[in-house]
Amino acid sequence: MDAIRFTVEAQDGEARAGVLTTRRGVIETPVFMPVGTAGTVKGIRFEALESDDLNAQIILGNTYHLWLRPGIDVIKSAGGLHRFIGWDRALLTDSGGFQVWSLGALRKISEEGTEFRSHVDGSLRFLSPEVSMEVQAALGSDIVMVFDECAPGEASQEETERSMNLTARWAKRSKVAFDRRQSEGADTGHREVEGLSGSQALFGIVQGAGHLDLRRISLEQTVNIGFDGYAIGGLSVGEEKSVMFEVIEHIAPRMPKAAPRYLMGVGTPEDLVEAVARGIDLFDCVLPTRNGRTGQAFTSRGKLNIKNAQWTKDQRPLDESCRCSVCRRHSRAYLRHIYMAGEMLGGILLTHHNLAFFLDTMRGVRQSIRSGDFPTFRREFTGRLGANGE
Ligand SMILES: [Zn+2]
Repeated sequence: MDAIRFTVEAQDGEARAGVLTTRRGVIETPVFMPVGTAGTVKGIRFEALESDDLNAQIILGNTYHLWLRPGIDVIKSAGGLHRFIGWDRALLTDSGGFQVWSLGALRKISEEGTEFRSHVDGSLRFLSPEVSMEVQAALGSDIVMVFDECAPGEASQEETERSMNLTARWAKRSKVAFDRRQSEGADTGHREVEGLSGSQALFGIVQGAGHLDLRRISLEQTVNIGFDGYAIGGLSVGEEKSVMFEVIEHIAPRMPKAAPRYLMGVGTPEDLVEAVARGIDLFDCVLPTRNGRTGQAFTSRGKLNIKNAQWTKDQRPLDESCRCSVCRRHSRAYLRHIYMAGEMLGGILLTHHNLAFFLDTMRGVRQSIRSGDFPTFRREFTGRLGANGE
């Protein structure tokens, strides 16, 4: 039995509406995955993620963070990440490659893997394709990512090529190690008692920075190894936005049509809609949660900074066209007051609304693709975003 099944049910230009079936449920795509870095989607309870308000079908966990703290023994003893955190829906884990790469000068990359100092206790740690696959099997996530290396957005052709070839060799090693872990039964997420069937799925990652020729080679290398799904990595790491969209436009339509396409770590609501228009199915990003904690709301009329004095007596909701529980109950004036007073509920309520807005945007995207109105949706969505003038 396949680890996942994916069916494209409607297409409008390059935009696809499909159904991704994992062992833990059916996910309609295009989909946004809230980021649960250290086993929590920051500032929001799992009940809220599951509520009709948000109805998140899949969230992301970070291998790097969970490996360092609380550590794999703790998560294994709970019977895997789903049981440890109390989440029964689908989970995707990243490989730790990006987090380790982001450490910059604090890490040392070799053919074998990456050596770095833990940000938690300063200990020397080593992450490789084999270790990442071992950790992700112990986490028992439903979708596992290969261990990759990311080249900086402005990297030269030579530097990017070296990094891309290393990623290809690591992808091959990831696949071998993944298959071995599956055959050993190391996947803690596979529970007969829960009536689950199927193994973990493994996604490959296309690298190559802003060099389109290298991106094409990386895609070919990745497809030749063969994965359940394919991701575009190494974008939104400091390159110009026009470069990011050029890469997506060039690569996404060339990715296997029968497999889900995942754009890693991107982006704003506008970025999501624009990437869907270029053929992407899955997204994750910290923006709705992180910006919620720093007082910034995403709305259908653009960004809104709750700290601004102009909202002091404003009785309107954050977003007049949002139906989330925060917008139904609270005014900008109240949200500004509790945020400025340092009440923890301020960040929680903004996070809730932001996630509702991202997830609702994707709901609108899916409906419009299915009804053949995606170009209209895209034009009206983008047109409204400038309305707040922020
Ligand atoms: Zn709202």
